[in-house]
Amino acid sequence: MRIKIALPQALLDQLINEVVQHLPEEACGFLTGTSEGIVENILPVENIQHQTKSFKMDGLEQLNKMQEMEEKRQTWLGIYHSHPEGEAYPSNTDIISQVYPEIAMFICAPNESGWQVKAFWVNEGLVEEEALEVLK
Ligand SMILES: [Zn+2]
Repeated sequence: MRIKIALPQALLDQLINEVVQHLPEEACGFLTGTSEGIVENILPVENIQHQTKSFKMDGLEQLNKMQEMEEKRQTWLGIYHSHPEGEAYPSNTDIISQVYPEIAMFICAPNESGWQVKAFWVNEGLVEEEALEVLK
């Protein structure tokens, strides 16, 4: 079931800081929060490919973060990754390799004024943008 997702401004800033720190590589990780869809935590996962145009999450770290999320009784709200040289839109690879269609795909990419973060629902080749709400 799709959940309406809201991102507090502070978490948005934190997410951008996190992906910028990994430049020029793509960064990736999880977003977790309340069952109402408010993002509260960013859980970075190592991109074991260390590439500028692709990512693969470290499998063990991914499991550890999932465990951490359960222990903190957090809801899994998103998987984020960055497109340091691309657009804030799922690439063909992102669409084809989607394995968690029930989890929103967050993509961070640079634009004229800095960085932007967009969220998408990607399922069986279809992409729908989530009207991501930023809480000031
Ligand atoms: Zn991508």
